[in-house]
Amino acid sequence: MNGADEKRIDGKTIARRIEEEAAETVRRLRESGTEPRLVSVAVDEEDASFASYLRSREQACLRVGIRSDVVVVPAADPTRSLGGALEKLSADRTVHAILLKLPLPPGADEAAIFARIDPAKDVEGLHPLNAGLLASGRPRFVPCTALAVAEILAVESPSLAGKDVVILGRSRVVGSPLAVLLLRKGTDATVTVCHSRTRDLAGHARRADVLVAAVGRPEMVTGEWIRPGAIVIDVGTHAIEDPSAKKGWRLAGDVRFESAEPACSRITPVPGGVGPVTTAVLLRAAASAAASAAGGDR
Ligand code: NAP
Repeated sequence: MNGADEKRIDGKTIARRIEEEAAETVRRLRESGTEPRLVSVAVDEEDASFASYLRSREQACLRVGIRSDVVVVPAADPTRSLGGALEKLSADRTVHAILLKLPLPPGADEAAIFARIDPAKDVEGLHPLNAGLLASGRPRFVPCTALAVAEILAVESPSLAGKDVVILGRSRVVGSPLAVLLLRKGTDATVTVCHSRTRDLAGHARRADVLVAAVGRPEMVTGEWIRPGAIVIDVGTHAIEDPSAKKGWRLAGDVRFESAEPACSRITPVPGGVGPVTTAVLLRAAASAAASAAGGDR
């Protein structure tokens, strides 16, 4: 094992443990006649990284025993087509968990669309009720990627009390909910959230004991941004052109791995870091939604 391998955080191992929890819930549900079912909803568009994500998610659903379907709606008038699909799935008693693909297309009315998801099936925590529960310190469904980062940090840095966590990105599904999770009493990190109007992004990053990159800019974060010994969590997932790769593209993160690895103590690779943990967290949430629908915790 070389130095880079030793620093690599193995998302798949963390994911396996969470999948086992989900599989146990699913096993009990199936014994009592419930087939947990997760449905993803997306608009019709080309997206290589989503297709790759869906493939690995399908495999994970098979491992855990969750039925998984995808509903694709026309891209024209997305507020109407997505809203209609979400309302139908919300009313369908065979569906326990609904996942909406983000970002929504331009022109879509985000608030109107999120409100059409039954909060009890809203495994990504998008409905205002679930967002409010998180903000008020009583999380039910939390955006899966944010929760995945928190799960990874619970393994990599069991005590975050007083540590400087710098999050690059303030989105509704990653940066903002992650900040709420890490600020909670009991976790007690000192959290800085940066965004596109932040001055001296690199300066903030360099103060971090834990740096979370969720900016959606391929390989923007380089080694010079990293405090020696920091833990780096790379949330970014991009399919970028690479003529040397067999398919002509490869997956990359928001961090340039080769440049960051020498400076940090631990780092999540892309792929194989945050991605599999996010999928596992989603399956656990879907299993839990099905258990609640079937009547109580199992
Ligand atoms: P997003 O909604 O586009 O948000 C990006 C955030 O980064 C925004 O807060 C934006 O600031 C900020 N930002 C963008 N450019 C910046 C710059 N040059 N300097 C400073 N801040 C900048 O993205 P997201 O949904 O959070 O996703 C982030 C990344 O994670 C993407 O690469 C996405 O593909 C990936 N992702 C991965 C998973 C997974 O499971 N691994 C899941 C979800 C997302 P403003 O708020 O000011 O615009």
